[in-house]
Amino acid sequence: DSVFASVVQAPEDPILGVTVAYNKDQSPVKLNLGVGAYRTEEGKPLVLNVVRKAEQMLVNDQSRVKEYLPITGLADFNKLSAKLIFGANSPAIQENRVTTVQCLSGTGSLRVGAEFLARHYHEKTIYIPQPTWGNHPKVFTLAGLSVKSYRYYDPSTRGLDFSGLLEDLGSAPSGAIVLLHACAHNPTGVDPTSDQWEQIRQLMRSKGLLPFFDSAYQGFASGNLDADAESIRLFVADGGECLAAQSYAKNMGLYGERVGALSIVCKTADVATRVESQLKLVIRPMFSNPPIHGASIVATILKDGDMYTEWSVELKAMADRIISMRQQLYDALCARGTPGDWSHIIKQIGMFTFTGLNTNQVAFMTKEYHIYMTSDGRISMAGLSSKTVPHLADAIHAAVT
Ligand code: PLP
Repeated sequence: DSVFASVVQAPEDPILGVTVAYNKDQSPVKLNLGVGAYRTEEGKPLVLNVVRKAEQMLVNDQSRVKEYLPITGLADFNKLSAKLIFGANSPAIQENRVTTVQCLSGTGSLRVGAEFLARHYHEKTIYIPQPTWGNHPKVFTLAGLSVKSYRYYDPSTRGLDFSGLLEDLGSAPSGAIVLLHACAHNPTGVDPTSDQWEQIRQLMRSKGLLPFFDSAYQGFASGNLDADAESIRLFVADGGECLAAQSYAKNMGLYGERVGALSIVCKTADVATRVESQLKLVIRPMFSNPPIHGASIVATILKDGDMYTEWSVELKAMADRIISMRQQLYDALCARGTPGDWSHIIKQIGMFTFTGLNTNQVAFMTKEYHIYMTSDGRISMAGLSSKTVPHLADAIHAAVT
């Protein structure tokens, strides 16, 4: 008998499991709106032209070798990543108060940051929004933090529960860590306004709450890299400390390359140096050092003015296509006279729409229309095209009538 005979079958990941079910479906009209990966109008994955170009340059450069990177990753990549998220003129960068380490995409950056906090920060509780990306509670718990949630989404308005958020953060113990989605909140597509961010900042700073930003969609929400980093820059501008986890999965389409960065903004350069020395002790036994290819692509693009511009144009085209899908879906529901107010579809931003459809309605749409999405009613707008909007609108219409 196997020594593993008592191992029980684990459930499928709630998000990636949607794709597993989709792949088994034989219907020609099947539609996968589960996973958050960009698709073209033709439903195909997209490799950006500027990424192809950078890869070509890397391949042609015969001087490049495959040596290990340092524990903290590619130095150029780290510098450029900090500049991208905090802004080219960020005083925190100029004062050398930021330490940035290359990690395995957004997930790995969150994990490294959380393990650092579990070892070196006095308060072990992290508050995450309700709801949030399904992986957050697992990543933080396994890193050794204790997870609590704060109110974020109000189903009755399909918008932000701002008073609930302020109340919950207001009653959090001083020093607690707070996970904030920098923009394009996943799964709700609901972000605070600039005024609300400022109020959140004031409350958090007055209580000494530590912000941990998750930035998985910079440039994807509005199409503008600076606009989508405003929340983070607001917190850095006050001179206080924070953490930021960056992912290049969506905004550069580098999903499988697993390229991201963790930055910790400190009060002084001296503290930042010591923090970095401890980050190395977190990373070394976890994965030794990060992979070289994806980070080299990012660094090549970010350090060249023309390539940077080319990237921002391609990024905006992706964001614009998603925004246009929102309008088309909204128009299609209006045209069908589908009961209910669907304006949240055009108000929400980023990759996802939190439709408000319940588990039963989602199950109905999967069974009758071969449309796959997470059971909370979240649909990936990036998986939609002009051709598939009518099918989705028919399905939603049938599900709610
Ligand atoms: N954080 C949020 C909110 C996300 O939606 C995602 C991806 O779906 C991630 C982090 C991390 O993604 P990755 O590890 O692929 O960069």
